Amino acid sequence: MNNLPTKQIWHMLTIDQAIAALDTNPESGLESWQISDRQAAYGRNELNGKLGRSKLSIFVDQFTNVMLLMLIGVAVVSAGLDLRVGSFPKDAIAIAAIVILNGILGYVQESRAEEALAALKRMATPNVRVLRAGKVAEIRSAELVVGDIVFVDAGMQIAADGRLIESVKLKVREGALTGESQGVNKFADQIFDEDESLGDRCNMLFQGTEVLRGRGMMLVTAIGMQTELGKIANLLQDVEQEETPLQKRMGELSQALVISSLVLVAIVIAVGLWRNGDFVKLLNTSLSMAVAAVPEGLPAVITVTLALGTQRMVRRKALIRKLPAVETLGSVTMICSDKTGTLTQNKMVAENIFTTNYAAQISGTGYEPIGEFALSRLAGDMLASDLNIYQCAELQILLAASVICNDSYLQKRTVEQISDRPSPRGKKDLSPLPIRSPESLWKIIGDPTEGALLTLAGKANFWQTHFTQYFSRVAEIPFTPERKLMSAIAAIKDIDAEDTPETIRMIAALLPNKPYFLFCKGSPELVLSQCDRIQIDKQIGLITTSYKTSVNIQNTLLASKGMRVLGFAYLPLEKLPTEDELADIEKNLVWLGLAGIRDALRMEAAAAVQISRRAGIHTTMITGDHQLTAQAIARDLNIFYPDSDRVLTGQEIELMDDNELTAIAQQTAVYARVSPEHKLRIVQALQRSGEIVAMTGDGVNDAPALKQANIGIAMGITGTDVSKEASDMILLDDNYATIVAATEEGRTVYANIRRFIKYILGSNVGEVIAIASTPFLGFGAVPLTPLQILWMNLVTDGVPALALAVEPAEADVMERPPFHPQENIFARGLGWYILRIGVIFGVQTIALMELVYNSGNPSWHEHWKTITFTTLCIAQMGHALACRSDSKLIIELSPISNPYLLVSVIFTTVLQLALLYVPSLRQFFGTDALSASELGLCFGFSMLLVLWVELEKIFSRWWSKSHPSKSPVKPQP
Ligand code: ADP
Ligand code: MG
Repeated sequence: MNNLPTKQIWHMLTIDQAIAALDTNPESGLESWQISDRQAAYGRNELNGKLGRSKLSIFVDQFTNVMLLMLIGVAVVSAGLDLRVGSFPKDAIAIAAIVILNGILGYVQESRAEEALAALKRMATPNVRVLRAGKVAEIRSAELVVGDIVFVDAGMQIAADGRLIESVKLKVREGALTGESQGVNKFADQIFDEDESLGDRCNMLFQGTEVLRGRGMMLVTAIGMQTELGKIANLLQDVEQEETPLQKRMGELSQALVISSLVLVAIVIAVGLWRNGDFVKLLNTSLSMAVAAVPEGLPAVITVTLALGTQRMVRRKALIRKLPAVETLGSVTMICSDKTGTLTQNKMVAENIFTTNYAAQISGTGYEPIGEFALSRLAGDMLASDLNIYQCAELQILLAASVICNDSYLQKRTVEQISDRPSPRGKKDLSPLPIRSPESLWKIIGDPTEGALLTLAGKANFWQTHFTQYFSRVAEIPFTPERKLMSAIAAIKDIDAEDTPETIRMIAALLPNKPYFLFCKGSPELVLSQCDRIQIDKQIGLITTSYKTSVNIQNTLLASKGMRVLGFAYLPLEKLPTEDELADIEKNLVWLGLAGIRDALRMEAAAAVQISRRAGIHTTMITGDHQLTAQAIARDLNIFYPDSDRVLTGQEIELMDDNELTAIAQQTAVYARVSPEHKLRIVQALQRSGEIVAMTGDGVNDAPALKQANIGIAMGITGTDVSKEASDMILLDDNYATIVAATEEGRTVYANIRRFIKYILGSNVGEVIAIASTPFLGFGAVPLTPLQILWMNLVTDGVPALALAVEPAEADVMERPPFHPQENIFARGLGWYILRIGVIFGVQTIALMELVYNSGNPSWHEHWKTITFTTLCIAQMGHALACRSDSKLIIELSPISNPYLLVSVIFTTVLQLALLYVPSLRQFFGTDALSASELGLCFGFSMLLVLWVELEKIFSRWWSKSHPSKSPVKPQP
């Protein structure tokens, strides 16, 4: 086993040589003992290169922030002042200590946030489909071993390096490795020289590259750090740390505050000197002021809030890939959602078939291949009960086509597989078997539409395993959302053998006597347009226009019931077409019939559409399906109202220029039969109309639209790796309702950020006013030292602000229209509130200082600074409680609905008291122990601010009641 050649030059070897070198079996893959041996010997398929910024650079970044630079400046000046009079520079040291502590805290928070983001990204790592022990299985890409046979198809990100052993129109983008953004064609059957450059080894696939088109199979030749990508993994900066728009704006704000506080300092000193003030005293005042003006605690609280937001979102199955999305989500005005799988369950069941002479209705649920065919003859001259499927040649060939032209697998899970599944409680499920319904025993690997066809065929005893054996696939033209067609060419083999299943013999007898057959399925209009003949019982006849019309009627009949309809056709071939002929071969086909496939709605989607409508978010459905199918489903989900909304098809979009599309994009509720490139135009048109667009996508070619959208959303389950890579957010459950849940969380995060910004900045303004006034009031000293102010800004304001950040959503978050993402953070009265409350806070503090300083009470007079300091802190505790809601009074909110706030308010108050009564802290912070009555005075005065804020709420409620038209909530229809 240890003699596995790892230093082979794989691109020089033939397929057989490569297979032999890796001791694997191309028909059945590795056996389980080989897998466990190799996993033990070579480890997991993981890149352990460094991800993201280095620890050091995160740490250094903490100190490059202007606010901290300013604090360092304050510490230096303060040290100078102390040393000049020969006293110990206690404050400077304390400030320096706090700066460092704050840096460490910031570092811890940021690196944890970064790790969390990296962990989220790892959650998004793909599964791969492999052939192991004779079965197709889906495994985590980390479990791949050298020698595994991996299925490769469009949209996939290659999970290891490998030698191709099969390729069909395979095209791969190797930008991650070679920097070349154009796709490279890959061929299993070629061989290259030893020194062929990486980009030209066209029989190899490399980890991290993306499949643009086609399908193939590869033999894994290198995993983990041994891959070409692994060799350069240390150069990769996988996790990008992006600042959100708000963080950027807050960064700018603190810069502005620092600058204006310096200006203020200059003014105070200048005016003071002009009025013959004492320079040292003025300098002391201005140091305090500079510290007071800047919200030192704010950046950390914002970082933590965003991080908590992403965690809440992932709990609701929305995985954020790019931090700015957390904020933008709250502003989304339009959700463009895929239909299949997002608004519907993607649990397809084929219910109807129409062929030339027969109609069939098929019973059964889920993927369990058990159900009855209720048959009738369209011409109506035979009783339905007389018919069985084996008398209907047309139906049998159609079923054969649906199995042969199929890339998916239907599997019955074994007992072990089921009992191996973790139970909901996370432990192994050891209960005896028949606990699940029989249909849950059957699962599909691959496309649910195709799975439904395999189940359908199974109901007639047409088994995939038989067909793949006797109709071996020799060529194919893959399905793409652009083509909406798929064809497979099969060579018919050894049907006369002893053990040939009866169904295979029957089918072979029905088909014309030719060696090859092309089977085609796809959008009925397209398939039909390529047909010039038709299957009539066992004969092939010419197709008539009137027959085409009747097919179209059947098609619309099924589609308007919300079914996905597929058309089937076939073509007997004399010889195997060449590569060139293949491009043009889906022509002159023989029409077989239609199948109608039911895809049940997601019940939660209907509710979510209503919620988003009330929240001013419109939903648009985008699908490759027929317009009638889409329309029926959109109507059931209340996305589409026939009176006011439009349906656009891909064809119509083709005929429009961008202006025309922009003009009607907002009224369009359903886009049908679209291709991925239309999606890009749709996003752009909506954005031009001013919409903030969230768009879902799953395919390779959806990537440009996902990047263009304000929020690009990929599907966690069915999405291709390429679409995930391009997205801002991944839906772990592929569910539309999750998008709505994420927008709700986004709005809550934004509301909470605004909540603590108003809380923190209000207090900063108050502090500045109080301090700036002192030189003019004749107190002879500044009430607060820079150290005390830092304490307030970082601790007594900072801790409750963090608790405000986890305030639960207010009941009306989804009852109002979205706010524009470019909206100023101080919009809607926030800036005005901060100024107003700041002034009141300042005036109240000045009044308090006047009162205690000039009261004639010697103890009050002596303790006036500590009384001021304590009152400011306690007042902010009350303010924190009041900031929980803009409209509800403190007493109307349940204190336990945000227990963190209650705890943090109590905790901070106790800390503040400790500063007064623990001797060492008292000495450090330069406070005095207050008497009970003085403390009472502090608490009493603190209440004034809270009272004011609460009175404002009562007033504004009364105001909006008496002026109802001003109400900001405009109800949506
Ligand atoms: P959606 O946007 O709803 O996912 P698709 O792009 O998957 O739609 O499918 C568009 C159309 O292509 C379908 O209406 C169907 O007619 C056809 N189609 C879908 N899946 C397949 C398939 N596996 N093989 C052939 N045709 C398909
Ligand atoms: Mg699809």
